[in-house]
Amino acid sequence: MSTDTHLAGLSGTIVHDEIVPARAPWLYHVAKGQTLRIVDLEGNQAVDFLLYSASDDAERYSAQDTVAAQGNLFLRAGTTLLSNEGRPMMTIAASAVDYHDTIGGACSCESNTLRYGHHTKWQHACVENFLEANLWEGRGKRDIVSNINFFMNVPVEADGALGIVDGISAPGLTVDLKAEMDVVVVVSNCPQINNPCNAFNPTPVRMIVAA
Ligand SMILES: [Zn+2]
Repeated sequence: MSTDTHLAGLSGTIVHDEIVPARAPWLYHVAKGQTLRIVDLEGNQAVDFLLYSASDDAERYSAQDTVAAQGNLFLRAGTTLLSNEGRPMMTIAASAVDYHDTIGGACSCESNTLRYGHHTKWQHACVENFLEANLWEGRGKRDIVSNINFFMNVPVEADGALGIVDGISAPGLTVDLKAEMDVVVVVSNCPQINNPCNAFNPTPVRMIVAA
């Protein structure tokens, strides 16, 4: 019997299994029908996430379409991630965390400078990771659209303000994404150290793909 608890409940053959180091980008093609499991290895690690159709990357994840279709801001088990053409790209098949964010955006050198001061300008940020990973396949700045932040806690206050607050994830918690079409997954394992989205300590995550 396997003692790898991160594989619990994941059916099928494991076709890919990789640790994404703290602060690093990641890109992987997930075929229709396969399931990507993201494991928050040490807890409270934001996983910034973009999706493109593998057959035509002009079709990509749309936060607006996804939120409008489900009538709710938060991504939970059962959420269908829709493209800018309104087609299902992936489904959140299971989630050990109550909800995930898709309105908080990705951190950048520019937003860090605005929020935390000019002394943070040199710090590595998610936008650089997205650019680096996308450049491997010829995509550029214009291809970076509103993203998902898995394991990130961005509550909306009564007055409509957004918070970026201490996470609700914990070591070993997982989210499972079933591909509804052939997709390209682009991830930034968030390097942010100026707010609690990574508990001020970016850590590795594990990516497991089952077919
Ligand atoms: Zn970030």
